[in-house]
Amino acid sequence: MKIKRNILLNPGPATTTDTVKMAQVVPDICPREKEFANMMKSLRSDLLRVAHAPADKYTSVLFCGSGTINIDICLNSLLPEGRRVLIVNNGAYSSRAVEVCQYYGLPHIDLRSSVFEQPNLDDVRRTLEANPDIAMVYTTHHETGTGVLNPIREIGALAHEHNAIFVVDTTSSLGMIPFDMEQDHVDFCMASAQKGLMAMTGLSFIIGNETVIRKSKDYPKRSYYCNLYLQYDYFERTGEMHFTPPVQTIYATMQALKEYFEVGEVEKFARHHRVIEAIHQGLADMGLREVIRRDIQSGLVASVLYPDDPNWDFERVHDYCYERGFTIYPGKISTTNTFRLCALGAIDAPDIEAFFGVLRDAFDKNGIALPAKYE
Ligand SMILES: *Cc1c(COP(=O)(O)O)cnc(C)c1O
Repeated sequence: MKIKRNILLNPGPATTTDTVKMAQVVPDICPREKEFANMMKSLRSDLLRVAHAPADKYTSVLFCGSGTINIDICLNSLLPEGRRVLIVNNGAYSSRAVEVCQYYGLPHIDLRSSVFEQPNLDDVRRTLEANPDIAMVYTTHHETGTGVLNPIREIGALAHEHNAIFVVDTTSSLGMIPFDMEQDHVDFCMASAQKGLMAMTGLSFIIGNETVIRKSKDYPKRSYYCNLYLQYDYFERTGEMHFTPPVQTIYATMQALKEYFEVGEVEKFARHHRVIEAIHQGLADMGLREVIRRDIQSGLVASVLYPDDPNWDFERVHDYCYERGFTIYPGKISTTNTFRLCALGAIDAPDIEAFFGVLRDAFDKNGIALPAKYE
């Protein structure tokens, strides 16, 4: 079967290999069969390997849902009664965590800072010192909305110095940017199958400290479907998800993990690096400006400032590229008009060169000046 190959430059879901797509086409199976439980067992241990999380300390728990389900689950499940969450918030995804706290009525501190910068560590320290009731520090590793990479090792060290657990949204870094659960002081991280692993949507997972999960048995139960301990406990007792798993996505994820380990993380990270370098080069050649300083970028997302050109029209440029198999994506910065080009997925530098050919045509056809104009 020939499947059209689209180049997705949005921040996930990402371009997948044909072998991952085809891995979903399997004989029908009831996921309550032992065969399926065995598969999930090996999937769970493979996920620990991706995160370099020692199996004697960490476990992984699977959920059916998009990546946001992990944010919801960690926040509502891991906060003891009468304690607070500190959210180190410099972007859209940490703001989403703040919203989760608001919806559950979880006591929290929203430590907001500029979306263009990394958080200030002195502010984090001062907040922890002034508020000994903080039991959890939460942040986002790679803020996908801007492309800023946050200093999780330093934030994690502060959390642990103040006896708080450290929960990190690594949805857009796991399997693409190296980090180390122990050295970075990460108690819980999370991701979904369609980002760094380059599989399909519908499977999300949390990797975390097993002792803390066991302790959370006695924490307030704020959700039924989205409770970490309940799902963990069900896996421990039966090897299965509490409720129906995303069967075909799990097959695709198994295949994606196989390909991940075959390529190896060093080579995979090097490929992401080639892709983002090609993106930086293509933007510079067109005179397009990025809004985030290079030294704090994740190396996976370029946030591009809209040119000051009367003919600039994101929708029209997007549609022109989309019709030719390239998907670009709007920014997530409320104060500045940006669009994003991302280096996720099974793509390489030649795909980016082909994309810039099309983007230049889109500028040309729409009468947008090249090099791009800025006031
Ligand atoms: C993609 C992403 C999520 C999850 O978003 P969904 O739309 O629920 O898949 C969460 N956090 C970050 C940092 C992300 O990039």
